[in-house]
Amino acid sequence: MAETHLHPLLDGGIKPGAASFAGGTLSCRCERDQVKARVESNIAHNHACGCTKCWKPENAIFSVIAVVPRDKLRVSSHPEKLQVVDPAAAIQRHACTVCGVHVFGRIENQDYPFYGLDFVHPELFAEPGAPPPGFAAFVSSVIESGVRPERMEGIRGQLRALGLEPYDCFSPPLMDAISTHAAKQKGVLPA
Ligand SMILES: [Zn+2]
Ligand SMILES: [Zn+2]
Repeated sequence: MAETHLHPLLDGGIKPGAASFAGGTLSCRCERDQVKARVESNIAHNHACGCTKCWKPENAIFSVIAVVPRDKLRVSSHPEKLQVVDPAAAIQRHACTVCGVHVFGRIENQDYPFYGLDFVHPELFAEPGAPPPGFAAFVSSVIESGVRPERMEGIRGQLRALGLEPYDCFSPPLMDAISTHAAKQKGVLPA
């Protein structure tokens, strides 16, 4: 059976990152007047995501998404073109109103587990060398985008062949971080 097109950064094998990568400039995909954001930090927790909220390039069934400290990201060009996709969502995805690219996602709720981190799509960096994705999150959710459930075994196999363990939520370390945050809020673990 033919391989499924997962994402341009995944199809054809994952390229290693550069040890010296320290951020760069994210650009939307408009032909002119691009929205740009400067990131003065390396990325962390880079992963493929199958959820229906993350921005995906054309024909991709996964997004590739990572986090950076929010104080290390600032919009440097054409902020007037950005609009929050869903103001009610925990992650406010700031999208270009012309090309639709999500330039960054920001958490404004200080009680949210990942508060302090912005979500970015590393493929939007002008600079090469971002660390590659290390796992796949919310894999079963691609069905919500119209992928037939009988294709899931093959898709999980493709992800494993790339070295990306497929999870149907976040990876265990991130799920542990969410539960630790909840436990501290409830007082069952010391803050
Ligand atoms: Zn744009
Ligand atoms: Zn997602």
